[in-house]
Amino acid sequence: MTDPTTPSRSAAADPSVPAPTGRRRRPSRRQLRLAFTALTVVTEVLMLRRRGYGLGGDVVVRCRRGHLYTTLWFPGASVTSVRLGWWRIQYCPVGRHVSLVTPVDTADLDAVDRQAATDVHDLRLP
Ligand SMILES: [Zn+2]
Repeated sequence: MTDPTTPSRSAAADPSVPAPTGRRRRPSRRQLRLAFTALTVVTEVLMLRRRGYGLGGDVVVRCRRGHLYTTLWFPGASVTSVRLGWWRIQYCPVGRHVSLVTPVDTADLDAVDRQAATDVHDLRLP
């Protein structure tokens, strides 16, 4: 009961479709972790550049309570904070508490805030 004019539903039966030569491998957990790490580092670099920083170094950050201070920030590396992509959880030396911090574009700060931010530097560890 097969109609020779009806195309076959199976690609394997279609002679114009090449037979698969090999199985496509799923990425390993290690490869996925590497890709995720690379993506987060690239995102961090791009966000830092948008705020006028290079590849890191001394960066002015603001905690959730609004305190400003300077910290060492290197994309993908930190021993004094918990990295959450663009955000970090670290100790705020101004309010003496642990908080979520984000980098601040110093061009958006007035002279008083900029001076206050550069006067306070947390540990000299990234
Ligand atoms: Zn604070």
